[in-house]
Amino acid sequence: MGNEEYEIKYYINLKNDIEVSEGFIYYKTRLIVPNILRKDVLKLLHETYLGFNKIYNIASELFYWLATTSKLKIFIGQCKTCSKYLKTQIKKPLINHSIPEILFNKVGIDIVE
Ligand SMILES: [Zn+2]
Repeated sequence: MGNEEYEIKYYINLKNDIEVSEGFIYYKTRLIVPNILRKDVLKLLHETYLGFNKIYNIASELFYWLATTSKLKIFIGQCKTCSKYLKTQIKKPLINHSIPEILFNKVGIDIVE
């Protein structure tokens, strides 16, 4: 059985939840991405260089196609930028500062944008 044939059979099983609206095909609320556009969608999803889990959450909320998880893992695994910078993000232990002997000798603030 060819890939396309397999996909067609797969989507036929989901037909009760498939809807067409303004030329787009949806599975429930998720857009079914045609094969030819899947790589572009993966690129767009990964433009922010978020980690796999965050991208997977966004992808599984908005889009639907077969093998999203494995394709996404492979795609991120092949990303040169991620492999270059993830290696440099090794977690280091927190370093505690010394406790001052005088009250308000040391003041710290957290800045949140
Ligand atoms: Zn990346």
